[in-house]
Amino acid sequence: MGYNSIVCVKQVPDTKQITGQAMKSDGTVNRAALPAIFNPEDLNALESALEARDRHGGTVTVLTMGLPSACDVLRDALCRGADHAVLVTDRRCAASDTLATSYILSCAVRKLNADVVFCGRQAIDGDTAQVGPQLAEKLGYTLVTYLEDFEFEGRTVRVRRNIGNGYEVVRSQLPALFTVVESANKPRPQALRKALKFKKALSPLEVNKIVTEQLPDADDNTKRSEAANRCQALAKQGLLITQWDLDDLEADLTWCGVTGSPTKVNRIQSIVLAGGDYKEFPPTDAGINQLIYELVEDHTIG
Ligand SMILES: Cc1cc2nc3c(=O)[nH]c(=O)nc-3n(C[C@H](O)[C@H](O)[C@H](O)COP(=O)(O)OP(=O)(O)OC[C@H]3O[C@@H](n4cnc5c(N)ncnc54)[C@H](O)[C@@H]3O)c2cc1C
Repeated sequence: MGYNSIVCVKQVPDTKQITGQAMKSDGTVNRAALPAIFNPEDLNALESALEARDRHGGTVTVLTMGLPSACDVLRDALCRGADHAVLVTDRRCAASDTLATSYILSCAVRKLNADVVFCGRQAIDGDTAQVGPQLAEKLGYTLVTYLEDFEFEGRTVRVRRNIGNGYEVVRSQLPALFTVVESANKPRPQALRKALKFKKALSPLEVNKIVTEQLPDADDNTKRSEAANRCQALAKQGLLITQWDLDDLEADLTWCGVTGSPTKVNRIQSIVLAGGDYKEFPPTDAGINQLIYELVEDHTIG
């Protein structure tokens, strides 16, 4: 029995590279100054979906909501083995908070229809870990967070959850949404043959941009028909990335973008963690006893 999986993936600024220029004066991240990467735990989510397909058959579709440049993570996912890629992009998505993001993603998941949705536990830029749970709620799917391992048994799934200081095994019905942690697996690299093929995959918006650059003097009709021909040729080779806007999703616009986002940012503060004093304890019984004594004494433990 095969399972159709959707993996929600997000393109994020590489927050490990944050330097002075990467922060704006208002304390927000200057995304343009940072390289854009595949959100790390979304690679673990993708690997889980690919493993499920390897074991049981079915399909893996990667889905992102973002700017046209987010196609980079979709191409990366195709090169690692995903079967289909969908970009949801629309100016009316701008300024979406997690509530609006999860609503928009839920419209796309409904249109695709899946047995399982895999999300990363958390994105390294927004860091809220809210999108997965909010998406499950909107879809009415069973939510299992912190997935580390899983095994399908017909229409149920047995999941091992990493709960920090141990693990918990739960059984859930499908359809289900999982948020996947880093310890779940080691993401596979791109396969050479797929990389050679899918690096040429494009979304219609990217095709339009290339046509405009290559035919700067052509009139609009010529550009439109050239772009349509190129899209048709890409589709024949399985290289056209599906692109949807909010109209394609029949989304309720009051739930999208600014109007659908009740979150108001009150204050943004940059916190610089400075190293404090440190104390060394010898690796002996007496040293360990002293360490425990001091940790209890200052109420760090106990
Ligand atoms: C008031 C406000 C305004 C904002 N305006 C903007 C804006 O204009 N532009 C902007 O880019 N961001 C904006 N954001 C940030 C945006 O809300 C979050 O980036 C987004 O909702 C995801 O939240 P997160 O990063 O905390 O993801 P998490 O909840 O930490 O992500 C968990 C998982 O959900 C999935 N996921 C999350 N986001 C996406 C996505 N876009 N596509 C597919 N899967 C996804 C991934 O699997 C990810 O691992 C705004 C946030 C706030 C609070």
